[in-house]
Amino acid sequence: MAEIALKAGQESALRRGHPWVFSGAVAEVRGAPGSGDTVDILSAGGEWLGRGAYSPLSQIRVRVWSFAPDEEVGPAFFRARLGRALELPGPRKNPEPAGACRLVNAESDGLPGLIVDRYGGWLVCQFLSAGAELWKDTVVEELGRLLSPAGIYERSDVKVREREGLPLRAGPLAGSEPPEILEIREGECRFLVDIRRGHKTGFYLDQRDNRAALAGYASGTEMLNCYSYTGGFAAAGLKAGAAFAVNVDSSQPALDLGRRNLELNGFGAEKAENIRGNVPEILRGFRDSRRQFDLIVLDPPKFAESRAQVPKAARAYKDINLLAFKLLRSGGVLFTFSCSGHIDRSLFRMIVAGAARDAGRPARILRRLEAPPDHPAALEFPEAEYLKGLVCVV
Ligand code: SAH
Repeated sequence: MAEIALKAGQESALRRGHPWVFSGAVAEVRGAPGSGDTVDILSAGGEWLGRGAYSPLSQIRVRVWSFAPDEEVGPAFFRARLGRALELPGPRKNPEPAGACRLVNAESDGLPGLIVDRYGGWLVCQFLSAGAELWKDTVVEELGRLLSPAGIYERSDVKVREREGLPLRAGPLAGSEPPEILEIREGECRFLVDIRRGHKTGFYLDQRDNRAALAGYASGTEMLNCYSYTGGFAAAGLKAGAAFAVNVDSSQPALDLGRRNLELNGFGAEKAENIRGNVPEILRGFRDSRRQFDLIVLDPPKFAESRAQVPKAARAYKDINLLAFKLLRSGGVLFTFSCSGHIDRSLFRMIVAGAARDAGRPARILRRLEAPPDHPAALEFPEAEYLKGLVCVV
């Protein structure tokens, strides 16, 4: 087997169980491994540290499959890791047949680079690293054996694949072709999901519990759902008795599917308005026309893609939060999120606090939100905790 020798002093993250080796930590590559090949990782002193997938082009040069010297990487390994992932307490172990949930959460399930989401009887996979790509056929075969899905579809058309030197690809992998639009259940709501063209694998499963949390504050409210995608928060709010919902998103296809979703749940134009536009501009427009709301959701895309972008992203988060606070009626509630991993919970809290102060709307935190239990976060992998939210009342 090929070997990666680390530079002196570069083994501490691996010793803590963090599964990445960065290119700068590598002293020597022995044995000419190819993309995705399994390599042993050795300290500068020659001590065995782990076994992982080599990625010759990525900054993340090796992703660890195993920290156990006698664990071989092959079909039995994937069968065991996938089996363990499916045993996780919660929606994975006790699935709602028509529901959707994440079955494999990459590094946090011991399978770096692999995402598997279930939509009813269908599976959607992302192979995001060279190692995951190399073992694709094995993963697909084992998933078929473990779950007997109607079909398995691939959504590896994700930018991060380029950093691994992998082509972008989407299409069926096994079983029958999924329908153009799938229908899933989430709590009281039904949702249409476009697994071929939708964001991520089709739906923001990481916000499931937070859509449910919103229901507790929605009754009788006029709500504003910013960055609405296909209207998930609006459907949850209306089902829980909201009087009216405004969805704002820049994507027309997302708004179109959102309208169909609201209709599917029994809500027509008398209950909801869909605005295509840029959220900060729309918020400024509402401010200028003095339009107000009782419940506002801010669920923007990742503003900080890198550490260098944090200051700019912080200003952007502050801007939209400040505007949202201004639009809230007294006693109104704000659900505000950040999915930027580089902005941690304490910085996000400071940004939101600064926004409330500058808006002249003193606010209190009612709840702190995060991804649901089918998105586990390995303790040694803080990168998994990208999603954070605050429920604030003014
Ligand atoms: N809350 C949604 C997920 C939101 S994802 C849910 O629960 O399903 C972020 C959304 O923001 C995407 O749909 C994207 O189209 C939209 N978006 C990105 N930039 C935007 C902008 N400047 N103005 C409005 N929408 C934007």
